[in-house]
Amino acid sequence: MADRMFMAEVKAAARCGGCLLCALSDAAEDRYLRAILREGGSSERLLGEIVDSRGVCREHGWRLLDDEIESEGNALSTCCVFLAPVEELGSVLKKTRTTSRRRPRRKPKGLKGCPVCLMVSHVVECYESELLRAFGDGSLAAGGVDLCLCLRHYAALERVAFAAGDDDTLERVRSRQREDIESALAEAREYIAAQNVAAHGEHTCADPRADPPLQLVRLVAGLPRRRPNGDR
Ligand SMILES: [Zn+2]
Ligand SMILES: [Zn+2]
Repeated sequence: MADRMFMAEVKAAARCGGCLLCALSDAAEDRYLRAILREGGSSERLLGEIVDSRGVCREHGWRLLDDEIESEGNALSTCCVFLAPVEELGSVLKKTRTTSRRRPRRKPKGLKGCPVCLMVSHVVECYESELLRAFGDGSLAAGGVDLCLCLRHYAALERVAFAAGDDDTLERVRSRQREDIESALAEAREYIAAQNVAAHGEHTCADPRADPPLQLVRLVAGLPRRRPNGDR
C-alpha cells in the first residue's frame, strides 16, 4: 500500500484539479526553490551544483527572483546564490589566456544541467512509480483520488507499467486514459460547433476565449503554470 505521506501529497495534488503528476512535480519544484532561497547561499553542495551547471535554466532563475521578491520583498538570497557561478567563472577567465583560435566546444566538458530541472525530473520519476503502485493496489481509489493525468504523464505511467511487466495495471491506465480522451473530445467538439455557430452570426459570442475546452487543454498541456503569487 502507498505510504501515508505519499497519499497526503497525492490528495493535495488532486485538489489542483488536473494532472496529478504535473501537480506533484510543481510541488517538488516549489519545495526545492524554497530550499535554495532558504539555505542556498550557505550550502556548499548546492552552490557546487549551481557552479557546475553555470547557473540555473531561464525558467528557474526567474522563478527564484520572482518568488523571493514576492515573499521577502528583496532578492538577497537569489543574489548570493547567483554570485557563486559568476565569481567562479570570473576567476577562471582571469587566469585563462586564449592561445588557440579553435572554436570553443558547444558544451564545456562536465557541464551539468540546471540542478532544479535535474532534481525535479528525478523526483517525478519516483512519483511515477509510487503513483502506479497506488493505482494498481487500489490505495489511490481507497484514498478517494481518481487517476487523472495529462497525455505526457499517462505515457510516463504506461512506460513504468510496461517496464514492470504489469499488464493488468497497464490496461487499467489505458482504460482510464480512454475515458479522459473521450470526454475531452466530446467537450472540444461541442466547443468547435459552438464557435462555428458564433462565426456564422447565428448568435454572438461575447468573448471567444470564454469557456475554452479546458479538458482538452489540460490533457495536452498539463496543469497551467503557477504565477509567483500561487495563482494558476
Ligand atoms: Zn501532467
Ligand atoms: Zn531548470
